[in-house]
Amino acid sequence: MAIPNTYHDMLTRSIEAIAGKGRPIVIFGASKAGWYVMKVLEANGIKVTAFCDNDPQKAGHTYHGHPTFLPADLYENFPDALVFIGVFRREVFQKIKHQLTGLGFSVQDADAYVFLYSYFMDIAKRECDRGVFAETVRKLSAYYSRESYAYGYVDDGLFVSPFVTGVVTQKCNLRCFDCGQRIPYYELPQDFAVDALVKDIQQYCSAFDLVPEISLHGGEPFLHPELGRICREVSKIPNLVFINLITNGKLIPSEDTLRDLSSSGADLHQSDYGKLSRHQKEVFSACSEHHIFCDIHFVDPSEKWTRSPPIRQINRSVQENDEVYKQCVSSRICCQIMDGKLYRCPLSAHASAQGLIPLMEDDAVELKNAAISNDERIQNIRAFLTRTTAMNVCKYCDPEGGTLVEPAIQLSKRNRMILENGGQI
Ligand code: SF4
Ligand code: SF4
Repeated sequence: MAIPNTYHDMLTRSIEAIAGKGRPIVIFGASKAGWYVMKVLEANGIKVTAFCDNDPQKAGHTYHGHPTFLPADLYENFPDALVFIGVFRREVFQKIKHQLTGLGFSVQDADAYVFLYSYFMDIAKRECDRGVFAETVRKLSAYYSRESYAYGYVDDGLFVSPFVTGVVTQKCNLRCFDCGQRIPYYELPQDFAVDALVKDIQQYCSAFDLVPEISLHGGEPFLHPELGRICREVSKIPNLVFINLITNGKLIPSEDTLRDLSSSGADLHQSDYGKLSRHQKEVFSACSEHHIFCDIHFVDPSEKWTRSPPIRQINRSVQENDEVYKQCVSSRICCQIMDGKLYRCPLSAHASAQGLIPLMEDDAVELKNAAISNDERIQNIRAFLTRTTAMNVCKYCDPEGGTLVEPAIQLSKRNRMILENGGQI
């Protein structure tokens, strides 16, 4: 049976199995995967009673308006609950299923991927080929079941994208001194043209069997006047799953943009900059109204940012540079697609665009070079992302040499003066 029908049939069977029984419906997993389960159940007229989670910090709170219980407490309150499991890793799904059935719950077979597929195809109505997208979701399920982060050629011969960012704008409404993207240091920041940016992202995605996620940011992505159109176009790429936007919560997106985000199945992550993120709550509510997943990492007062050392050529041997580079690319450092090029990290993209680091030919891949064939471009992208030796730009970088500072210090006139007078902020 074709996979789209399999997903569709599994969902139909699950809905039929619970409809009309009048029993409480509970979702295990008060997190992103559980949110997709909730959205699809609600869209099919099923009222969700509660969430359940093994994380004691989540229990006792609400998740998207629903009370959240630890499994044992759930049993005390709703012993006859029918439970769906919203987790992405297959092994974890099986463990939780075992745990919940052991407590006496009736657990449904449909996993988070059945709901993920239905959310993107039937609720968001992403305009991409259903068959190819179903195959992509199947690959994602295999990929997310791995123990650790990996990209390039993974176990079953899939060529998978690393974390990647599409820079939509170099503009921001904050000026964080320690911005990892170096955004406040652009003299003439620009919004990137939609068609060219979308083409770059398409070219990039064509080099992979699976692109689990692309993060569209800047700067502040909501400052791009055509962000909605960018999301709609990117959502047509069938081997790409999540389109994630990162916002600082300082402005509320327009209704039109929210509608476009919703129909692209894009999700939102709010960075918490304390009182600077003054529209956090409104952004949450707007997302909830438009069925857009939105989360936040609330900054704990003890959390710090890293202030990078000044950019300068570092005295390291070739082997030492290679080691530094290898350490970097085995971590979750993001590739950057910006202005027609693919870069390996934010520093190489933004410091070279600002003229602070000389960019050599093999420090980036040209995505819009019309003189090369698609096959050559794909080979170039794959070779670039699997290289094991340092780039030229790495000579100017000391990723371990940073110092810890307060988050989101703004590049105000006062702070500038302190710095110019040799002080520290
Ligand atoms: S809000 Fe984010 S992108 Fe904007 S300056 Fe601060 S760290 Fe950089
Ligand atoms: S330029 Fe710096 S951050 Fe980027 S890969 Fe090289 S060592 Fe890592």
